[in-house]
Amino acid sequence: MRTAVIFGAGGFIGSHLAERLKSEGYYVIGADLKYPEFGKTACNEFSIADLRYLENVEDLIQQGVTEVYQLAADMGGAGYIFSGDHDADVMHNSALINLHTAKRATEIGAKVFYSSSACMYPAYNQTDPNNPNCSEQSAYPAAPDSEYGWEKLFSERLYKSFQRNYGLDVRIARFHNIFGDRGSWNNGKEKAPAALCRKVAEAVNGGTIDIWGDGLQTRSFLYIDECLEGIRRLMEAPQSFEPLNIGSEEMVTINQLAEIIMDIAGKELNINHISGPLGVRGRCSDNKLIQDKLGWSPNYPLRDGLVKTYWWINEQVKNNSK
Ligand code: NAD
Repeated sequence: MRTAVIFGAGGFIGSHLAERLKSEGYYVIGADLKYPEFGKTACNEFSIADLRYLENVEDLIQQGVTEVYQLAADMGGAGYIFSGDHDADVMHNSALINLHTAKRATEIGAKVFYSSSACMYPAYNQTDPNNPNCSEQSAYPAAPDSEYGWEKLFSERLYKSFQRNYGLDVRIARFHNIFGDRGSWNNGKEKAPAALCRKVAEAVNGGTIDIWGDGLQTRSFLYIDECLEGIRRLMEAPQSFEPLNIGSEEMVTINQLAEIIMDIAGKELNINHISGPLGVRGRCSDNKLIQDKLGWSPNYPLRDGLVKTYWWINEQVKNNSK
């Protein structure tokens, strides 16, 4: 039986990944600062552990562990990343986890999956909302617009150095806005799809919801199941590659995203544009390289993922107001 360790197993992607690996027959060891917020963990073992400490990372990545999925990070949506208030924590906490993971996985000979982010792409390539450039080779000269993005870039390079110098087998994906049920939806760390689903669920028909900025900024959003599929295909590939995008190419404006959610909810709402943290003007996955390397790329329609997510968040909103 293959044994996998998931760091960040109490988080959104990590808790879904635990289910996926279990269903594939893995023995799954999870670790996080917290248990999954929504539902029981699927992990065979789950440790509450602070991964900024080397001894905890060493305890968890033991002989016999074949794969490590490193998803733990100090992160959140635009309100968390772009306020500037969390910059030191984001860099310090996430970098420590990655430094320890790279070293320990190398000692044990475990294969590592590392979750980087589209936030590492240079902001200067993302000023045109209709033509953002997020091809993998556009990463340099580097100029991410957040410390979160800089830390991701640093850690990509960290893992690649361990690969070059010590033979670590590492697979790196740059996720583009992953969403779905059982993600943050009301704690300040939620991303645009969850925040908009919540606002629409809370609004009465004919009411108004707030959107940060003019809503013309573009993004693409990937449903969680396809993210897991991409992670697993990358880990199972016979060789390692340079970091690959795992994201959707279905680009929408934030206003369009809101319209789709309103339509799913069957509500007609007015949009009030307010000032708030925005991030780059346009960003969308470029899937040429992943298609070329893995013979696969995501294609699940955004609307289908939003249907599942909206009704889950609607349920949370109803339960919360009881
Ligand atoms: P999440 O916040 O739900 O999960 C991250 C988990 O890491 C949390 O449960 C948190 O408690 C844990 N963690 C943080 N510091 C820790 C520590 N010191 N010790 C132990 N655990 C710690 O986020 P997610 O959406 O599941 O994202 C998973 C990974 O994917 C992250 O690395 C994130 O940067 C990356 N990513 C996510 C997205 C997305 O859209 N969700 C996009 C790009 C990249």
